[in-house]
Amino acid sequence: MKKAALFLGAICMSLSMIVPEGSSAVQARVVTEADVGKKNETSATSGSAIKTKPQRPSKPAKSNKPVKKNNNKPVKKNKKKKHKKQPKKTVYLTFDDGPGSRVTPKLLKVLKDNKVKATFFIVGYEGKANKKLLKRIVKDGHTIAIHTYTHDYRKIYSSKKAFLSDFHKTEKLIVDTTGVKPHYFRFPGGGNNHYMSKKLRKSILKELHKEGYTEMDWNCGTSDAAATYYSAAQLIRYGKTTHWGPDPIVLLQHDANTKYHTPEVTRALIKYYRSKGYHFSGLSDYPGPEMCFK
Ligand SMILES: [Zn+2]
Repeated sequence: MKKAALFLGAICMSLSMIVPEGSSAVQARVVTEADVGKKNETSATSGSAIKTKPQRPSKPAKSNKPVKKNNNKPVKKNKKKKHKKQPKKTVYLTFDDGPGSRVTPKLLKVLKDNKVKATFFIVGYEGKANKKLLKRIVKDGHTIAIHTYTHDYRKIYSSKKAFLSDFHKTEKLIVDTTGVKPHYFRFPGGGNNHYMSKKLRKSILKELHKEGYTEMDWNCGTSDAAATYYSAAQLIRYGKTTHWGPDPIVLLQHDANTKYHTPEVTRALIKYYRSKGYHFSGLSDYPGPEMCFK
């Protein structure tokens, strides 16, 4: 979507530059990101660019093989439920980097008030500090998904083993806290970032597909990576205009504590997309295909 070429689709509290792109049929973006409220913020603060571009989606992982035993690996099978048929005009609201004690409760209220289900890509250390919120996310019928434990780029992208250990620590936290086994994940920085080599990405994906996980990037965003700079009105505008590619819409926002505009922006975007005939759902009802940047 050409008019959406200026899109800062960062994952985290990036104070990044937006670089206009969008010369191809799909949109390319350059993003820098740093983590929000991250305790061990060692990554991505130097303004490295992350160029993301959605690929032709592949089919979601089908395997339900049990996860091998390991310190941080649960033994339960990763069974997926059957998807309810969703209309093409669906918006999958997704929130990364939470749960944040100052933002997530307000956001959950907005979702509840509007009878909307969404998806939370949680960061493990935030989840551990906010277990009640993890439970509430599940109790309210939202989809809970993995965004790694530390969100520390240098650590998680140092090797396949490092990534998977961090990943499974988050998985275990979610399972132990909520009793729900997640099926979706999102790489910190998106599926195409400068911290993860193509080779590493491929090897991680191979393993996670085996375990029954589906990667989900996004095709729309509010640019709230710079939420401290943008007004709510600006974020709402981005959320309305940056969708590229066909429906459905997978919309990226953040619910870390610094993203204080998120509840208000979400309320406005629900109203807007409803007026355009869109339906809302959590990714637990997403029929596929897997959506990943390449
Ligand atoms: Zn993130």
